Amino acid sequence: MADRFLNERRQVMEVAKELERLGLVAVSSGNISVRVGDRKHNLMAITPTSKPYAELTVDEVAVVDYEGEPVEGDLPPSSEMYLHVAIYQARPDVQAVIHTHSIYASVCAVAGWDIPPLVDEVAVYLGGPIKAAQYGFPGTRDLADKAVAALEDRKAILLRNHGMAACGASLTEALAHCRLVERVAQIYVHARNLGAVNVLPADVVEKERTMYLMKLRAQQKG
Ligand SMILES: [Zn+2]
Repeated sequence: MADRFLNERRQVMEVAKELERLGLVAVSSGNISVRVGDRKHNLMAITPTSKPYAELTVDEVAVVDYEGEPVEGDLPPSSEMYLHVAIYQARPDVQAVIHTHSIYASVCAVAGWDIPPLVDEVAVYLGGPIKAAQYGFPGTRDLADKAVAALEDRKAILLRNHGMAACGASLTEALAHCRLVERVAQIYVHARNLGAVNVLPADVVEKERTMYLMKLRAQQKG
């Protein structure tokens, strides 16, 4: 029994350690998940609660259903599991979700700023602005519902006074989106400090969003 979904659990563990190497999470903050098994069973592999990523082992990555009932793993799932569940339930295109407290995304989340399409990748890969969700208490379904409301059909959001979340059609894509959000948040903070924020022209953003939607539709079918 304990050997089920080992590949996916190993991927979650490796992405957790990579996020820490990149400085996007620290110790055990944030959480990472990927869908596992048949869609009808509603299962995900997710980082456990309060376990430093540096010491995390494959066996400790939890597999739970959408009510948090354990299926595999030696430790309880992340306390923020409802955020992951809500995104999977709302978005058939999403295979993986990552939540971090990365610094510049958190700065924008504290300011309550939606990050506009400042560079081309924002609309091409994330589908448009990175919106700041309304505040929700950590670990609650309320936080999860507000996050999904802000996410709509895009791939990343800010969680007000908390951090950020990104999703993707794979763990690799979700990780790339976390890195992109942090880079764009950093650009936005510095550009605002310079007093000059020029967003891309609306027709360019519209073209880029059309490219995004074509890819999204393919992911929804897959
Ligand atoms: Zn958090």
